[in-house]
Amino acid sequence: MTKPFKTLDDIGEVSGKRVLVREDLNVPMADGRVSDDTRLRATLPTVTELADRGAIVLLLAHFGRPKGVPTVEMSLAMLTEPYAAVLGREVRYIDWEGADEAVSTLQPGDIAILENTRFFGGEERNDPDVVARFARLGDLYVNDAFSAAHRAHASTEGLAHVLPAFAGRAMEAELIALEKALGNPEHPVAAVVGGAKVSTKLDVLKHLVGRVDHLIIGGGMANTFLAARGVNVGKSLCEHDLASVADEIMAAADRADCTVHLPYDVVVAKEFRANPATRTVNVHEVAADEMILDVGPAAVESLGDVLKNCRTLVWNGPLGAFETPPFDVATVSLARTAAALTQDGSLVSVAGGGDTVAALNQAGVADQFTFVSTAGGAFLEWMEGRELPGVAALTR
Ligand code: ADP
Ligand code: MG
Repeated sequence: MTKPFKTLDDIGEVSGKRVLVREDLNVPMADGRVSDDTRLRATLPTVTELADRGAIVLLLAHFGRPKGVPTVEMSLAMLTEPYAAVLGREVRYIDWEGADEAVSTLQPGDIAILENTRFFGGEERNDPDVVARFARLGDLYVNDAFSAAHRAHASTEGLAHVLPAFAGRAMEAELIALEKALGNPEHPVAAVVGGAKVSTKLDVLKHLVGRVDHLIIGGGMANTFLAARGVNVGKSLCEHDLASVADEIMAAADRADCTVHLPYDVVVAKEFRANPATRTVNVHEVAADEMILDVGPAAVESLGDVLKNCRTLVWNGPLGAFETPPFDVATVSLARTAAALTQDGSLVSVAGGGDTVAALNQAGVADQFTFVSTAGGAFLEWMEGRELPGVAALTR
């Protein structure tokens, strides 16, 4: 497959060259420790490959939202040791002051973390002066941070215009997976869209109806669609003011030959807490004082049958209030079906979204999907069909 962007396969001789590598090092911290090192581990293929090929690897990343005001709490100095531990190699830290001199002392194969890019106010404005400030430290630019690619910042977009630009290995894997899922997928394609509210995913739904064969709507947002169809959803989370929008989406799906799947049985409770008394009922039997908190078993089984006939699945949003037992049952069950079909080779499955990733981990199947994106905002913008500036700058 020829790629519309250059990768480390196209970068040529890097030995002795200074390579600015944009990574996502914005890890969660608790009590001064990295509480989840997923993002650090994601950088390893690119960073070790470049260092092994003799490059001088200069990591560019933001941390938090300092808005141009340097603070100790947001200094990337604190990540030097944890990152070195994950990498199993020595890592240097370079402050912006004296950066040119410090970089000039590095040897081929050395790895350094440059200070927080957002210590420059112009980073987020994509200020040409900040782009030039970064660019003069490097000979080549590698963008490996898909999760920051929805922002046109100096380190995520600007640099690609002034230095030879390449996708890193993690970026490459993400772009290939997303292309297989929605760009140029094998049909039939199913999309699962769940989560709390329609209002946060309107653009996702609008984009998907024109691209997928089956749109499976679950979670709180299914209530809005059910209510628009005249179903009494009781005390369920529901955006009644979006009824006409829900109708428009269903009409657009009709015109595009996209089948919309809404739950026809649901799990309801009178209280939203762990393990309350529940009933499993037809959607037309929800009482006025009940809440729909999960998709019912009959609907989940027929959704599994839909997936069995599909070649591609893209999934964002849980089917129920999965954090609170037993309202994780539908999500876990459909996730396991998707994982098994993926392992059998009949389905390409791509999922993303903060809570979705948590739900797939809870189901124990995240590593059995074809690809799980941890990119959050960038993944959602991609599901909305938007062009991501950081990606566009690489695919010029
Ligand atoms: P993601 O982070 O993967 O994009 P969302 O943030 O859109 O997903 O949605 C996740 C949230 O939706 C979870 O907190 C879950 O509890 C909630 N949710 C799902 N179904 C329901 C429901 N029926 N009622 C209330 N909340 C729900
Ligand atoms: Mg969320």
